[in-house]
This record gives sequence, structure tokens and C-alpha cells, in this order.
Amino acid sequence: MSKKEISIIGGGASGMMAAIAAARGGAKVRLWEKDHSLGRKLLATGNGRCNFTNRDLAPKHFYAQVPAVTDMVLAQFELKQTLEFFNELGIEYYCDARGRYFPKSNEAPSVLLALERELERLSVEVNLHTEIVGLKKNKGGFLLHQRGESHQARAVILTCGGAAAPQLGGGEGGYLLAGQLGHNITPLRPALASLELEGNWFQKLQGIRLDMDLSVWEGSKKMLQLTDEGLFTKYGLSGPLALKSSRLLGQGCQLCFLNFVPGQTDPEMISFLSKRTRSISSRPAQELFNGLLPQKIGQMLVRESKIDPEKDTARLLETEIKKLASNLTAWPVKVKAVRPFKEAQVTVGGVDLHEVIPGTLESKKIPGLYFAGELLDVDGDTGGYNLQWAWSSGQVAGKSAAAGDV
Ligand SMILES: Cc1cc2nc3c(=O)[nH]c(=O)nc-3n(C[C@H](O)[C@H](O)[C@H](O)COP(=O)(O)OP(=O)(O)OC[C@H]3O[C@@H](n4cnc5c(N)ncnc54)[C@H](O)[C@@H]3O)c2cc1C
Repeated sequence: MSKKEISIIGGGASGMMAAIAAARGGAKVRLWEKDHSLGRKLLATGNGRCNFTNRDLAPKHFYAQVPAVTDMVLAQFELKQTLEFFNELGIEYYCDARGRYFPKSNEAPSVLLALERELERLSVEVNLHTEIVGLKKNKGGFLLHQRGESHQARAVILTCGGAAAPQLGGGEGGYLLAGQLGHNITPLRPALASLELEGNWFQKLQGIRLDMDLSVWEGSKKMLQLTDEGLFTKYGLSGPLALKSSRLLGQGCQLCFLNFVPGQTDPEMISFLSKRTRSISSRPAQELFNGLLPQKIGQMLVRESKIDPEKDTARLLETEIKKLASNLTAWPVKVKAVRPFKEAQVTVGGVDLHEVIPGTLESKKIPGLYFAGELLDVDGDTGGYNLQWAWSSGQVAGKSAAAGDV
């Protein structure tokens, strides 16, 4: 009996995994990639070190409108299988103190090479420089249109990725293909990106890195509390703290608070500053935070608290100390926008999960059509979750497509 022909559109993390799973499942696999090489985005992950999964794959780290989809997919290919899979391909790995897994080589190209060698071993036909611009259902399955040529496939897996990082192959082409076959695309927006802030108080802080607490409130309800490193930029805030909060802050919650002394409360800082004004008296107020905070942050807090920077610390009024403590522990920050797709790591939104079968990722509308990776309306926290989603969903879609009836 001839092998089932499966075409996979998109040669990123999820596409390569789907191709391997489908070929191991006995299918004849063709992989189509518009770029000059496979896995360009994969090479940029983890600052080039490839943070490929995380020790804690709890559901709270994945965002999906239909949690049954992520639950059923991750259950079929979870941490243990992911580590075994890469280990069998020769990738030795380590887990850092924050639970993030990296290859021991600390080089993303080693992960890409391992995947490429497995594709080769399984005789997957890899077509580079080949953008699929049209996709139609026909009698024999699907007709894929490249500019000037068409190709027939029994089943198709769409793994075109999301709109984030267009300079690394991101784009909306995959959503258009899914749309051509009648799939709904939920609204797209960038996440895991820096924050553009209102005002100019941060202008003089450019380049300063600092561990801070960030909290987001809706009325009296705390929506988010994070402690991590922030980096001040010309637009506002970057670094892990900004990236981790960008999903929520890009969704309508726009006011957040920074605590420049993580873990310290307002009353603790009132008491601390009161003592400090006595212990380091006869100094100008702008030096009050010297040795505690980066100088420019200390000066900014004095300035924004409307205190004369030359005023003797011993002469600071109780109201002024309270104002300083409040600004130090709960500095209000208004978010203007999340930086655009070009600077984002992932896309929120995508192929509507209500239209896919949770356990197989096959379309409920078009039998024989499957999806995997960021193209689906699933995104994860920073820390290896987005690649884990690419691996798990690629594995499930590839295996299901090879085994499917169509
Ligand atoms: C800078 C950066 C750092 C990141 N770091 C991490 C990290 O450390 N850990 C982590 O878990 N996640 C990280 N991510 C996110 C992660 O890289 C993505 O979520 C993941 O690569 C998605 O895999 P994918 O296969 O769905 O899409 P992609 O990897 O984007 O692959 C899609 C592929 O499809 C191709 N394609 C698109 N349309 C077509 C078409 N019509 N025809 C043919 N080919 C097409 C594209 O060229 C691309 O190669 C990072 C992202 C960025 C941008």
C-alpha cells in the first residue's frame, strides 16, 4: 500500500516536530518553508541558547480559550517525552535555577541540527524558498499553490507560526491560508514584548537594570504581582518584568505599580527612611537613596515627589518622607502600548480553538486539515512554554495526521 502523503506548511519548531511525528507514523512527508533555511526563529530563542522547555508545565502557564485543547495536547507529549525525544537525538540538557531547560551546548543551532538530521533520516522532503500562497480542498485531499506551481496532498498540517518577529519569518500568511478554508481567526496582538509608558520620567533612566516588583490592579482586585528584572529604555520598560506583564497590560489593564525595593512595604520604608534622614543628615535630599538605589532612580523619586533636591535630609517633613516611601514602593506607571509585533516574541490570538478537535488538532470543519504551533490561538509564558507548545502540538498533529482516516 502506498504511503499517505502529508504536506506540512511552515518549517519552524512545530513544523519540524510535526514532520518527524508524521514520518515516524509511516507517512510520506513534504515540508514547505518560505525561508532559505528551517527554524530561523528557533535559532533566536533563549538569546540564542534555546530555552526549549520548563520544569513546571502547569496549565496556568498556557493561555487558551479552550483549555481542553492545551490540556489534551500537553498530556500526550509532556516534559518527560520532550526530554526523551531530544535526548534520543543527541541533545544533552540542563535545567537552570528558574526551571528553564537549555541544551548543554548553550547553542540553539545544535537543537536545529538535531532536528534536521532526524528529518533527513526519515526521508522527509524539505522544500526551502517555497511559500505556499493558496490552499484548496479537492477530491484527492488538498491542492497547495506555490507561485507558479501546485502540489497535491492527502492531508495538510498548517504550522506557519504567528505574526511576531516578522524579521525571523513571522507573518500573517498562515492565518490567510486557514481563513481560505473557512477558519475563524481570533484577534491578533503582540505579547512577550516591551512596554511603552506614558510620560517622560523614565527618559533619564535609560539603560538601568533593576529587580522590581510590578503589580496590576483592577479596582481593589490584584490582577498580577511579579518580581523580576526590568530594564528602562527610551520607550519605557523592557526586560523579563515587562515581557511577563505585557500579555495582561496589552489587554486593557493599563495602570501598574512598580516597587523599586522588592518585597518592602510602604510602612517599612517610612520607618526606614525616617531613621535614614537622621543617620545621614546634612546631605542634600537627592542623595537620600545613595547606596540603596541606582543614583538616577533616587534622583527621579525625589524630583517626582516634588521635593527640593538640595533640601537637607534632616529637614525633610513627615509628609515628604511618606510621599517618598509611597513612590518608592508603589510608583504608578501608565502603559501607553505594548511594543509592536516586530519586537514581540509571541502572538496572542490565532486559529480559533473552538474549531479544532482537542485531542488531535484536526479541523472540525475540514477533515484532513491539522494545525500546530503558534498559529493556533495558544500562547505561553516566557520560560520555554511557547516552544513546548510547538513541540507538543507538532507531535500530536503529526501523529494524528499520519494515523487519520482521511
Ligand atoms: C526573539 C525570540 C525569542 C524567543 N525565545 C523563546 C524561548 O527562549 N523559549 C520559548 O519557548 N519560546 C521562545 N520564543 C517563541 C518561539 O520561538 C515560538 O513560539 C515558536 O518558534 C513557534 O513555533 P512555530 O513552529 O509555531 O512557528 P515558527 O517557529 O515561527 O515557524 C513558522 C515557519 O513557517 C514558515 N512559513 C510561514 N508561512 C509560510 C508559508 N505560507 N509557506 C511556507 N512557509 C511558511 C515561516 O517562515 C517559519 O519558518 C521566542 C520568540 C522570539 C521571536
